[in-house]
Amino acid sequence: MAYKITLIPGDGIGPEITEVAKRCIETTGLEIEWDIKMAGEECIEKFGTPIPEETIKSIENNKICLKGPITTPIGTGFRSINVFLRQYFNLYVCLRPFKIYKGAKTKYENVDIVVIRENMEDLYSGIEFEKGKEDTKELIKFIEKKRKIKLSENTGISIKPISVENSERIIRFGFEYAKKNKRKKVTVVHKANIMKYSDGLFLEVANRISKEYPEIEYEDKIVDNMSMQLVQKPEIYDVLVCPNLYGDILSDLCAGIIGGLGLSPGANIGEDIAIFEPTHGSAPKYKGQNKVNPSAMILAGVLMLDYLGEIEAAEKIERALAQVIEEGKYVTYDFKNSGEECVGTFEMGKAIIEKMGGKW
Ligand code: NAD
Repeated sequence: MAYKITLIPGDGIGPEITEVAKRCIETTGLEIEWDIKMAGEECIEKFGTPIPEETIKSIENNKICLKGPITTPIGTGFRSINVFLRQYFNLYVCLRPFKIYKGAKTKYENVDIVVIRENMEDLYSGIEFEKGKEDTKELIKFIEKKRKIKLSENTGISIKPISVENSERIIRFGFEYAKKNKRKKVTVVHKANIMKYSDGLFLEVANRISKEYPEIEYEDKIVDNMSMQLVQKPEIYDVLVCPNLYGDILSDLCAGIIGGLGLSPGANIGEDIAIFEPTHGSAPKYKGQNKVNPSAMILAGVLMLDYLGEIEAAEKIERALAQVIEEGKYVTYDFKNSGEECVGTFEMGKAIIEKMGGKW
């Protein structure tokens, strides 16, 4: 079956790494029609927006998108396109696998963690009250009246909503993912001892849903303890399910454990639309230099093929990438100590494609 996939090269280092990922995917022999669409800084002049309508329509129609990193323009009034896309398409799951590949620059071994982060609510819902504004003063009065807590009038307030509905769907997704991928343990992360009605609710839902999956080991961990445990013994963790903020922070912690953002892909998944991307940004200072690591972008492609059920093709790419990293000959600067010989983005891509039996 031929797939039609929206491909957004993005900006900064995006076009270089997406080119490599695209060629790796094509080398699997799958039939793919790429619907290449623009987004990012360059669109502002042409379309007056960093995310043109035709790009949004393409994702809506194809339902699947591979996306390079996109710069969030500062001082133009445009907010993050990445956040916009997640909210617009209701992509409530952020899935990020963290696996150590032999040859990666890390002190750890045998780590294979998947972080599943709720993507829509929590402190990211954008409900904010600025210090000194009229409605903030009203809210402060309301809190004083209802909770007998007097806040300083110089207080800014961010609201943290966590609902049963959103908690249910992310926790269920976590358990279903574990079941489908033969994972053994789900750890739900929270701070329910302090935030009883938001994190407490998340935990309550997790306790309930976990009972439907007796074959999967279940535990919960308070986020501060979880952070320490991850640093001390990351190899004992499997699938982590987190509300938005803890998921964000622990994801970067896990990226640090496995050797950096250059190796960490992400998927934003909704009911029927999914967007796959590397989790690093557009690193504008390296734009057009054939320098950066294409692995996270290639692994985003692997995640996408997994999602499409093209397991063999996904494994083929991942195996070749792992071999190239382990051999350590055709790898980018971030795998090496400064002064050691390395190659560029395209040379690493070429080595991976040749390992797959293809030709650049
Ligand atoms: P960044 O991830 O782009 O880069 C930070 C540093 O990480 C780089 O200078 C580089 O040293 C290293 N790095 C990043 N990717 C690498 C790779 N593939 N190989 C080797 N080294 C790599 O973060 P930033 O500089 O904070 O952000 C730049 C822009 O990207 C901002 O506009 C930001 O908003 C945007 N951004 C976009 C996304 C996305 O599209 N999903 C995610 C994060 C940041």
